[in-house]
Amino acid sequence: MNRRGEAAERFAERRRQEDAAPRLRDVVPDLVSCRIEITQGRSEAMTADIAHTRHVVVERAPALLVVACYESSCRDGGHDISSTLLRGLRERRRSIEGEETCHGTVGAGYCGRVLRFIAAAEYKTAT
Ligand SMILES: [Zn+2]
Repeated sequence: MNRRGEAAERFAERRRQEDAAPRLRDVVPDLVSCRIEITQGRSEAMTADIAHTRHVVVERAPALLVVACYESSCRDGGHDISSTLLRGLRERRRSIEGEETCHGTVGAGYCGRVLRFIAAAEYKTAT
């Protein structure tokens, strides 16, 4: 299969996993909004190579958050921040920080790119 085909296949697989996952709204019913700031870099350097913000669409987002590895030659990589994020959301924390290392491969080596995230969440106030 060519590279484009592989990328399409991986994308389709990710969509299947997202569709199969429970909805974020069902897992954390009180969640109103969630914004995640993501920085990706090499483990040995503290300076971020790439930073972006992801706004979670609470109404229809899956309770599965996998950020693709930014290293374009990385195979089977990615950062699954779901478990850290969901744990924080269940505890109704307004700020959740986490770090995930990519376990993909680049060429014959280990990828090891590091993703750090800070999520800012808001919840319905208890009545
Ligand atoms: Zn990677």
